[in-house]
Amino acid sequence: MSEESSQKRWGHLRKVLERSSPFSHPEFEPSSEVLDFLMTSCKILVIGAGGLGCELLKNLALMGFRQIHVIDMDTIDLSNLNRQFLFRHKDIGSSKAEVAAAYINKRVAGCQVTPHFSKIQDFDEGFYKQFHIIVCGLDSIVARRWINGMLVSMLNYDDNVLDQSSVIPMVDGGTEGFKGNARVILPGINACVECTLDLYPPQVNYPLCTIANTPRLPEHCIEYIKLIQWPKENPFGVPLDGDDAQHLSWVYEKALERATQFNIPGMTYRLVQGVVKHIIPAVASTNAVIAGICATEVFKIATSCCIPLNNYLVFNDVDGIYSYTYEAEKKDNCLVCSQKPLILDIKDPHSFKLKQLIDILSESAEYQMKNPGLTTVIDGKNKTLYMSTIKSIEERTRVNLDKTLVELGIKDGQDILVADVTSPTTVVLKLKYLTSDVEMS
Ligand SMILES: [Zn+2]
Repeated sequence: MSEESSQKRWGHLRKVLERSSPFSHPEFEPSSEVLDFLMTSCKILVIGAGGLGCELLKNLALMGFRQIHVIDMDTIDLSNLNRQFLFRHKDIGSSKAEVAAAYINKRVAGCQVTPHFSKIQDFDEGFYKQFHIIVCGLDSIVARRWINGMLVSMLNYDDNVLDQSSVIPMVDGGTEGFKGNARVILPGINACVECTLDLYPPQVNYPLCTIANTPRLPEHCIEYIKLIQWPKENPFGVPLDGDDAQHLSWVYEKALERATQFNIPGMTYRLVQGVVKHIIPAVASTNAVIAGICATEVFKIATSCCIPLNNYLVFNDVDGIYSYTYEAEKKDNCLVCSQKPLILDIKDPHSFKLKQLIDILSESAEYQMKNPGLTTVIDGKNKTLYMSTIKSIEERTRVNLDKTLVELGIKDGQDILVADVTSPTTVVLKLKYLTSDVEMS
């Protein structure tokens, strides 16, 4: 590209980056070097090449970013094509990351998108360290928590003072139907994903007694068929498969019967599909708005031209358009970013069973772990208290579930190490006994 056409090509960016403005960051110094940095050195990682990811890659490429990596473990499905616009019918079955990267590289001259057809967990600190900014378009909370934990674990502290150069900003977008959110996380500085975990309510599980005895919603009827009637009648001799149309039709008919019996309106095949597969339909326009906001934040952080979002934006276009920004607060005792061990008060360690501890870690809105594995040190030796993810260890440690903390030899103030898929590192849990009589035992 000639010098002149290159000037024109990025003219819209030069207006923002080479002139001062009353709206710019107070410390921003306009210069042509900013655009040079953005185009030649600034390295961005996009996590997810789905609905948000396609939009993000397109936006970033057209904003002049050229060093872009993208990770996605999924392949392209027919149902993606209405909104994941970098994919065509011929691409079905191929890697999202690879097809998206190839499309952008062909379409935007000079842009170099590097695809990774893998899971985020396949990479270590050394990989993530190379990026200036990480932007996520994920639909999985576990993956979000994992990458958040990774970025926090990469922070360096010198005498309790955070080394700013170890901070990699994370811009995170999420959508659910007509609702979305975007946030800017500066690990160690402002609220991280884990600080605000209670914003993602645990998956709705209807109480079994309601499902069985007093259904009020069509969802209750569908859950009843799925959880009780299917296993009982086992109509096809196999477990229920949400992708099998015959299975879904069977569930629909039975759920409709039950809904009629209880006078519950609103049963549809689509709802059955949604409940069985836990689907919330994706809306292309919501993705476009959220990805636009996220890409703008990446641009603001990369160039320092404007003050970034502080720090959480919610967006809703269910009925008209609504958006609102607020400052999510860093949690003082955040499990991941506070650098403090998590202290758990135990009222009576003589009756408190290991099982109860695992229930707290899995079920409370604060922790929401999936399959926590617990180890500790007793008499100088590592001891696995419970681990459900490895069959042989599960069988060996299952007896511990019904033992109390005292029976297990766990003392007041003892550290329990907790490993879970929601975090790349081990979480330290300190047990504090509120009764004094066992301290010395
Ligand atoms: Zn935190």
